[in-house]
Amino acid sequence: MTRRIGIIGAGPGGICMGIKLLESGFDDFTIFERAPGVGGVWFHNTYPGAACDVPSALYSFSFELKRDWSRPYATQPEIRAYFEHCVEKYALAPHIQLNTGVVGAHWDDERAQWNVDTSHVVTGNRETHSFDVVVGAVGMFNDLHLPAIPGLDDFGGAMFHSAQWDHSHDLSGERVAVVGSAASAVQFVPEIAPRVGRLHVFQRTPNWILPKLDTPYTEEELTRLRTDPDAIVEERTLVWDRLEGFITFSDPRAVRKAQEWGELNLAVVDDLALRRELTPDFPHGCKRPLVSNDWYPTFNRPNVELVTQPIEYVTEDALVTVDGTARPVDTIVLATGFDTTKYLSVVDVTGRGNRRLDDSWSEGAHAYLGLTTSGFPNLFMLYGPNTNNGSILFMIECQVGYVLRQLRRMDDDGLEWIDVRADVMDDYNRALQVDLDAVEVWNASCNGYYRGPNGRIVTQWPHTMTEYQARTMRADFDAYDSRTARNARRQTER
Ligand SMILES: Cc1cc2nc3c(=O)[nH]c(=O)nc-3n(C[C@H](O)[C@H](O)[C@H](O)COP(=O)(O)OP(=O)(O)OC[C@H]3O[C@@H](n4cnc5c(N)ncnc54)[C@H](O)[C@@H]3O)c2cc1C
Repeated sequence: MTRRIGIIGAGPGGICMGIKLLESGFDDFTIFERAPGVGGVWFHNTYPGAACDVPSALYSFSFELKRDWSRPYATQPEIRAYFEHCVEKYALAPHIQLNTGVVGAHWDDERAQWNVDTSHVVTGNRETHSFDVVVGAVGMFNDLHLPAIPGLDDFGGAMFHSAQWDHSHDLSGERVAVVGSAASAVQFVPEIAPRVGRLHVFQRTPNWILPKLDTPYTEEELTRLRTDPDAIVEERTLVWDRLEGFITFSDPRAVRKAQEWGELNLAVVDDLALRRELTPDFPHGCKRPLVSNDWYPTFNRPNVELVTQPIEYVTEDALVTVDGTARPVDTIVLATGFDTTKYLSVVDVTGRGNRRLDDSWSEGAHAYLGLTTSGFPNLFMLYGPNTNNGSILFMIECQVGYVLRQLRRMDDDGLEWIDVRADVMDDYNRALQVDLDAVEVWNASCNGYYRGPNGRIVTQWPHTMTEYQARTMRADFDAYDSRTARNARRQTER
């Protein structure tokens, strides 16, 4: 098969796509990755304590099971090594161009191809490549969110984002400010607290943080996981059933129970006023569910302060809150997360009639099954809009399977391009919106990352993983407009 395929991103999505393309006989593809290594978020997020927050029994591909994670919630080095192993075992390296960011992708209707503009991160060298099909695998957690705090740029000390951890900078004995208290902060704050002199954690909104059942596996357990084929299946089934029963948040008793666990976890905080400040006023599940055993105890340390007053401005050496208090620090760590709602529009993409993806998504990113968006033929997205829930590797495998089925159909029927019908996509999104509105906990107010600028939830999948699998298994051919190669030739001749 000669179809040329360009893939943007060598995280888990791009890696899975590459492996499955090779397995299906499509070998004319290139994966562009702007980072100097593979693994996506597991390459970038090296902060102390970085780890999975969904049990890692489910965090390996079904076709390349990792049986011997050292603990139930594997840490970043292990996870990154797993994806590097996948690249090596499936001989993907010759297809990957590292240090190469995709800056634009433009559909040429006449030639029925994408012209993809890349820029080399080190040399700045720009190139244009032509592909028949483009697969965006840019993930959700790559566009760093930097807070708009007056004076931040003028801060004279060290400052870095948690996803760009400066390992050359020694925090020992320093006065450190951590801005943000969500997923990343919950993982690294307990790690750095014993080392630093003074730590100020600036919290905008508290999170529900549940106990983490994370005792490292014993040698005996690891031996069983490695040697007994049933053992990993049992582990995966256990996690699967737990997730499937919970991720739709449709059982109020389960939500309440989770919240009680959170309250139990919080009870280790000695100071009652502090405990109140750490208690969310919204239901569990409104924001990304988090787990940690050492986040709350960290606030009992004499060198750690929780600051709930908003930061008004930053001076050359201090953060000043709205009540006028200045806290001098040596280093600021921005644990402010990511802009999660842009998806592939982080790249300058133009489709049919030169329509920009950004403009198509002015009301918020949307797609059909998170995979295709009308007016952008032969463009697929992995981990696209409204596909975030459960184990993302499972969701990615469903998406990759769907893309392959469409590619095979294009070959079988001699199609130059397919383009999801606007009415099909709109009907899908209308129904999706109704389902999203029905998830009560997501509709409470909590400052999460699920909503786009227009207030619509653009990240979450409101059903089970099984439901997503069922929907993406459909042949779905009627959902697409297409053009056969013969028609195209006739059109060109005219
Ligand atoms: C700290 C953390 C913990 C997480 N824990 C879990 C978990 O426990 N379970 C779970 O299921 N999910 C978890 N996730 C979600 C995680 O993002 C997904 O599981 C998974 O990484 C998605 O893979 P991806 O390839 O789609 O995206 P990513 O992993 O984000 O990879 C995308 C890649 O695309 C590259 N890229 C982006 N733009 C361009 C461009 N223009 N040109 C070239 N390259 C580009 C990026 O550099 C990156 O390498 C976690 C995320 C974070 C940040």
